[in-house]
Amino acid sequence: MNKDCRYCQKIFSGKEKVYEDEKVVAVLSDSPSAYGHIILMPKEHYPIMEQVPDFIINHIFRIANKISIAAFEALHVQGTNLLVNNGIAAGQDSAHFMIHIIPRREGDGLNLQWTPKQLSEEEMSTVELQLKENAKTIGQFQKEKTAPIEIRDTKEKIESKPGEESYLLRKVRRIP
Ligand SMILES: [Zn+2]
Repeated sequence: MNKDCRYCQKIFSGKEKVYEDEKVVAVLSDSPSAYGHIILMPKEHYPIMEQVPDFIINHIFRIANKISIAAFEALHVQGTNLLVNNGIAAGQDSAHFMIHIIPRREGDGLNLQWTPKQLSEEEMSTVELQLKENAKTIGQFQKEKTAPIEIRDTKEKIESKPGEESYLLRKVRRIP
C-alpha cells in the first residue's frame, strides 16, 4: 500500500466495493462518466501497466471481462468500454494502474470517438516495421511464484483405528 495514493486508501477503506479477490478490487468511480462506472485495480500499488506482473495482468483482464458481463446483466446496458489510461500523455490522472469499465447505453452522449488520421503508405510501413521489430521479444512471461508447501503435523491428520497403524504413520516414524 502506498500511503499517498488515494486509490490504495480507497481499497483499504472498502467503500463502494463491487468485487474483490486476493489480487484485485473493483470499486465505483467517484467521478463517473456513466451510471455504474467501475474501476478495477490490482490491490498492490503499481503506477503504470508495464510494472504490473504478467500474472496480475492475466487475472485483471479476465476479471474485467466478467465485470463487464455483470454490468450488462445487472444494469441492462447495451455496451461497455474497457479503458486503460496508461501514462500521463494518455490521460492517466492517478499513480495507481486501473481499468475503467464504463457501461454504455445508446445515445448516452459519452464521447470516446476520434477523427481518423490519414497516414501515408510510407508512414504505415515505417510504423509497421518499428512495432514489428520491437514485438519480437514478446513471449517471455513472468509466472506467479507459488507459495512453499505448508508442512503440517502429519500425525494429527492421519486417522487410524486403535491397534492399527496406518502406512503413513509408520512412514512418518521412520524418518530420523
Ligand atoms: Zn495505490
